[in-house]
Amino acid sequence: MSAAAPELLTLISADQARRLMSQTPPVSTETVDLGAAHGRVLASPLIADEDLPSFRRSTMDGYAVRARDVAGASDGAPVPLVLVGTVPMGGVFSGALTEGQAVGISTGGFVPDGADAVVMLEYVTSASGRGSGNDGGGGRIAIAKRAAPGDNIIEPGEDIRRGATVLPAGRRLRPQDVAALASFGTARVSVFRRPRIAVLSTGNELCEPTARPAAGQVRDVNQSVLAAQVEAAGCEVTHGGIVRDDADALSAAVSLLLPAHDGLILSGGSSVGVRDVSGEVLRALGPPGVLFHGIRIRPGKPTIFARVGDKPVVGMPGFPTSSMIVFDAFIRPMLWRLGGETGRASWPARRRARLSRRHPSAPGREDYVRVRLRTDADGEAWADPLLGGSAAISNVIDADGLVIMGAEMESVAEGEQVEVCLYA
Ligand code: AMP
Ligand code: MG
Repeated sequence: MSAAAPELLTLISADQARRLMSQTPPVSTETVDLGAAHGRVLASPLIADEDLPSFRRSTMDGYAVRARDVAGASDGAPVPLVLVGTVPMGGVFSGALTEGQAVGISTGGFVPDGADAVVMLEYVTSASGRGSGNDGGGGRIAIAKRAAPGDNIIEPGEDIRRGATVLPAGRRLRPQDVAALASFGTARVSVFRRPRIAVLSTGNELCEPTARPAAGQVRDVNQSVLAAQVEAAGCEVTHGGIVRDDADALSAAVSLLLPAHDGLILSGGSSVGVRDVSGEVLRALGPPGVLFHGIRIRPGKPTIFARVGDKPVVGMPGFPTSSMIVFDAFIRPMLWRLGGETGRASWPARRRARLSRRHPSAPGREDYVRVRLRTDADGEAWADPLLGGSAAISNVIDADGLVIMGAEMESVAEGEQVEVCLYA
């Protein structure tokens, strides 16, 4: 890398970079079976087309009653009722409750007409023999607790009202979201396609991870890491291989991969040295082209972001640590967006801790400090900064997360509270 590199890059702020990347339009949509929807991004909102529950349901095992019949019931003065039957699960009790009557009911059962409360099994004693609650009726029971209208009953629409937005478009579906889809009988789900992303490494010094490096060679680490990160971001990944630091060779590889993919990630060669050809190659691609080349961050300054039509093409710094951090801070949210996901924080999991050592940062630059978390004997959480620059990968391997020092911050004092963005 040439010593003049900083002057040759036109750096933009981290916020500007995020803003430009956030304008990445989403890929197209497809329809999948409910069973394949988990982890996919919903393309159209789920609107409730009926009330949930659709009928009055008991929330307890017990007896459906008329609250006014047992308004005065207590342990000392139980109220006798005539048991007239049991609600079959999956069916209804035929008939309506009248004064002085009770019907056995299970959790989730259809509350019979005439009943307006359910008394839990625990407060009911059977006065005329066991098992009377399961027969056709005729037994007597005694209720030892007062009931108010609505007790242990969930009304139609009380959970989710017809017309309500249950799931917004842009939501990555969690198991509980699949429950919502199933509750409303959604057999086929409209989701965004998984973006297809090709990752390739550039560098004359690189050899395959399986090879024994000759003197001066290094194993290609980034392709594997980036592929894992791309997959974790919900995309399908293609390994584009290793390309030499040669504009024609890189250009040929990009031209080959771009048509069949929704985006490309090139590792290495993103700075402005004589062997750094990514910038030149990306500038020669179609419009709108390179949106920025260089961000005021550390590590990861020589990052390039281009778009060819709707397709993002990224040039990542070669140092594995820089690459990993830039991916998490910038590329991952951009890929979420490409995959249709909206409204998700860049760092879903955060934790507060005290920084155990003062950390300086140049004004105007956003810094990412790798930290390990520990809790001291008083239960105080501490973040220990890990040593080593972007050439060391041990610090990201050992790290529990990153402290992001915003552009406006000039230092964090020893013992100051910080927010740690956690690695998943
Ligand atoms: P570059 O960004 O191409 O100037 O690379 C900066 C440093 O990262 C150099 O020491 C490279 O050897 C190293 N590097 C670049 N690409 C990779 C890679 N794919 N895997 C491991 N190290 C890399
Ligand atoms: Mg290189």
